[in-house]
Formats: sequence, C-alpha cells, structure tokens
Amino acid sequence: MKLLRLLLILAGGLILFLIVNQYFFCPRYSFSTPQPFSGPLFYNPYETSDSSSWKQCNFHAHVRAWGGLTNGKGTDKDCRQVYAGLGYDVYCVSNYHQVSGPREAADFIPAYEHGYNLRKNHHGILGTEKIHFGDYLLPQTLSNKQHMLDCLNEVDSSFIILNHPVLRNGFAPEDFKYLKGYDGIEVLRATTHSFPQWDSALSAGKTAFLIGNDDSHNPSNANELGRNCTWVNAAAATRVEVLAALRKGNSYGMILPFIENETITQKTERFRKGFPQLNSLQITKDTLRIRFSERADAIRLLGQQGRELVKFTSTPSAEFLLHSSDTYVRAEADFPDGSKIFLNPVYRFDPAAAELVSPRVNSTATGLMRLAGVSVFILYLFFGFRFVRRK
Ligand SMILES: [Zn+2]
Repeated sequence: MKLLRLLLILAGGLILFLIVNQYFFCPRYSFSTPQPFSGPLFYNPYETSDSSSWKQCNFHAHVRAWGGLTNGKGTDKDCRQVYAGLGYDVYCVSNYHQVSGPREAADFIPAYEHGYNLRKNHHGILGTEKIHFGDYLLPQTLSNKQHMLDCLNEVDSSFIILNHPVLRNGFAPEDFKYLKGYDGIEVLRATTHSFPQWDSALSAGKTAFLIGNDDSHNPSNANELGRNCTWVNAAAATRVEVLAALRKGNSYGMILPFIENETITQKTERFRKGFPQLNSLQITKDTLRIRFSERADAIRLLGQQGRELVKFTSTPSAEFLLHSSDTYVRAEADFPDGSKIFLNPVYRFDPAAAELVSPRVNSTATGLMRLAGVSVFILYLFFGFRFVRRK
C-alpha cells in the first residue's frame, strides 16, 4: 500500500515538474509595444532579382524516421527523387529532430522540424546539423514561445521558420505582434494557410518572409506533393546561395494548381511545362512596379493589417503610387492556370534608426516566478511524503 502511494506521489511529481518547469521556470520576457514599419525609405527584397534565376523549393517533407514512431513513409532517397523528377531545384527532407540526406552533395541543405508539443508549435530549421532537443510540451505561453526561439538561436542562428502557425492555433495572430528571433513564416502549408498571422507580424513592424511548403508525409502519394512551393532567386541551388536569398526575402510563395488523384507521372508532365513567375519588382521614387511573366486574372496589393489597397484585373503588371501612410505593401496574383503567387512585402525603414530591440528577459519577474515554482514543489513533496508515511 505504501509502495502504491509512493508511486502515485512520484508520478504526480513528474507531472508537477513539467508544469513548474514550463510555467514557473521559463524566463519571463518583457515585450515592447508593436510599432508599424516607418521611415523615409522602402526595403525592396527583389532589388537584385534576376528573372532567369528562380529556383523551385520545398523545405518541409517527412519520411519514415525514428523506427516508424513519427508520421512519415518512404525513404529520404524516394522523397528527393520524386521532387527532383517534378522539376524542383531544392527538396529538403525535414524529419522531426533529425537531419538526413546526401551530405556530400553540393546542393544539400540540412533541415529538420523542431517541436513535439501538444499544440504543434513547430519550427522548420534550415542550414544546420545542430539539433535542439528541448521543448515545452504543454500549451505554450508567449514567453515559452520566445524562449524556444532564443534556445534555437543559441544552438545555431540558422534560418528559422515558424511552421504552420494556424495548426491547433499554435501561434496566434496576436503572438506575431511580439515574437522575434525567426526568419520566415510557413504561410502556405498543404491546404492550411496563415495569412492573418503573417499580416499581424508585418503590421507590427516585424520582418518576416513567406515560406510555402508541402509538409508531405509520403513521397508516393501525389496528392501530398506539389501543393505549395517557395521560389528562391539564386544563381545556383546551393546551401549558401539559397539561404542568403531567403534571408533577404528574395523569394516568393506559390500555391500550385492542383488536380486530385493524378499519378506522379501525370503531375511530372504538367509541372515540367512550368509556371508563371515574377519578372521584376522595382521601386523608383514613390512608384512600385511589378511585372509577371504572364497575364494574371487578378493582382491585389495589400497593406497594413492585410487590407486590400488596390486590385488590377487581366494584366501581367501593376503600378502603384506609394503613399506616406503605406507601411508595407505586398502583392498576390492569381493566374489562369490556377497558380497563385504571394510576394514578400516592400516595407519602410529608416537607415538612421537603431535596430528593433529583441524581447528582454525580465529578471525580477523571472526570479519571483522561479521562487514560487520552488515553493510549490517543496510543498508538494512535504505533503506527498506525509501522505506516503500515513498509517
Ligand atoms: Zn509540423
């Protein structure tokens, strides 16, 4: 009987430890008030784009890993082969907490997905082999989310993507007003999209570029492949060039035209015909000019809070006079073949202004919470062992 009670107290202690560690011991951050982009100049991520250098990329795909414990079928090689066949230039395999693939290849980009918590707060990590294994398992507070980003940056400041924020509301639009320390947001993922989250970050003056991925889990299921992609402007599809272009935002996302239950051969034939692309985006004085390779059914320009500023129909190009009230402007275009392009924003900046401060750890609040956590734990142990020793 005593043994049973002891086991009960130990199991309870383990759960309590998880709770105390996540909600009492995690550093508490002070977040600054969100400020929209401002300044006399516009940053143009496409300033150096070369229209003949767009590389088609998928950064998020799972195959069988960890002895089949995680969701994924097929092998690393199957996955790379099928994406290469479809015409992709970059095709990462991003298993949970595991980097795999042909390290000797010039175009190999290490990738993994970080996170095994309840709310699917996942991060796509590109360009590093250093894996961070820590996580907060229970629904995460804003401080938990920021601390996880800080840990990932500490392990390696490679390219960090907040994956599929809309899934289980892992990252709410409100979070994006405050979080810092990531580079991209997986706005396009399978059939789930996270535009309110992205516009929330941009409206709060946070530089965040769009990433489009399949998040496929079976390379032999054509329905999971080629749903979304990221086009990156790089002379060669190498790790250095691709990551450098992603960091500049010299890339854009695409929802690819989809036909249900196609065979992979049919899909390959269709994909090999190519897709519309961005030819140029320029800003001269106050005028923004965008030109696509083909006529679009519609081109929409969106600004602060994702509000539509203007819409053009049946044209390959758009011209827009930037007003003093425009903080950022991003474009979306729908094409007759069913594909949709989502450009990264042009946004205001002040070259003389200091860089945005990152959220800071509030040491007083952190100390007090930790003290409270220790007290809760001590009280639990005290009453727990009295309960075990009870006659
Ligand atoms: Zn995920």
